[in-house]
Amino acid sequence: MKGKEEMANKRDYYEVLGVSKTATDDELKKAYRKLAKQYHPDTNPGDKTAEEKFKEATEAYKVLSDPDKRRQYDQFGHAAFEASGGAGAGGFDFGGMDMDDIFGDLFGDFFGRRSRGANNGPIQGANIRTAVRITFEEAVFGVEKELDLTLKDECSSCHGSGAKPGTHPETCSKCGGKGQVVYTQQSLFGMIRNVQTCPDCKGAGKVVKSKCPDCYGSGYVSSRKKIKVIIPPGIDNGQSVRIRDKGEPGINGGSRGDLLVEVSVSRHPIFQRKDYDIYSTAPISFATAALGGDVRISTIDGDVIYTVKPGTQTDTKVRLREKGVPTLRNRNVRGDHYVTLVVQVPTNLNEEQKEALRRFDDAMTGKKHGNNGSENEKEKSKKKFWK
Ligand SMILES: [Zn+2]
Ligand SMILES: [Zn+2]
Repeated sequence: MKGKEEMANKRDYYEVLGVSKTATDDELKKAYRKLAKQYHPDTNPGDKTAEEKFKEATEAYKVLSDPDKRRQYDQFGHAAFEASGGAGAGGFDFGGMDMDDIFGDLFGDFFGRRSRGANNGPIQGANIRTAVRITFEEAVFGVEKELDLTLKDECSSCHGSGAKPGTHPETCSKCGGKGQVVYTQQSLFGMIRNVQTCPDCKGAGKVVKSKCPDCYGSGYVSSRKKIKVIIPPGIDNGQSVRIRDKGEPGINGGSRGDLLVEVSVSRHPIFQRKDYDIYSTAPISFATAALGGDVRISTIDGDVIYTVKPGTQTDTKVRLREKGVPTLRNRNVRGDHYVTLVVQVPTNLNEEQKEALRRFDDAMTGKKHGNNGSENEKEKSKKKFWK
């Protein structure tokens, strides 16, 4: 699997930018700006290494500067983008990335790029959130689920313009098609230019006079879609899986947003989980605890036989190495399973079993059990003691 190898060789994004895991947005921007200036193809023509470094830094910045993506990355590492499924799986997809957007923001026209005034260029669609419930075992071993969702698509009649077929959206008269309006204000520090999204066209630069009847002017139609989501082994309750390009459609030719699927994991009757470790209790008979012997213990891999030492006490904790949950970063690395052995005191004894226990008790104390009368005496003294 090519994708996996790429993942394994990938450097940590924080390491790439040379910042700490707690770096602020400003620190990220600063670090990226420095690297991008150093390795930018314009300043290193024909230098492949510089180009690679530039791409690596750009990718790291693109992920870490997006709060959603950064959270995903912090949780899952590079697997966050591997687990997304679909065509883009197996690596970070540069396709939907608008380089001008980053440089417009970071450098202005430092590299002689035209800085984009109006925001009527391609805008990525919004992310959609949904939830899915899975069993404890599915979370441990991973699972594929099919979601039934209502998704928006571009209206085929008007191709997303929202204008009645045969008509076209008209240039917004308020902003002259720029999508933005500039207010000039006099202040103590001189003239201030305030740029705001145009209220008439909401930044689109165009207004629809006669609406498309098929989408009522929205430019979109909704339909039920079946979406496959690959949930990676090791996922925990409350974590999300990102499926690229299954969010809202983009605007002005922008790429679609992503679908974020939050996973809730059902409780297990026997197993509890903390991070990648599993905890459970297992009953052990009084005789086995005393004499030592084999105990059958349930794990997520099935039952295992564990041999206890003679004289094992109740609440003894046993560690079954690598019987825990696979980690998201590497499914071959697993947590441990901690088992608390609970010695069972026998109940509902028949006469024969009672007699055997009395004999056992005699052997332990070196005394002989008396007749029923002395038993009653014992009971009385016990009661007195507790009162
Ligand atoms: Zn339409
Ligand atoms: Zn306008």
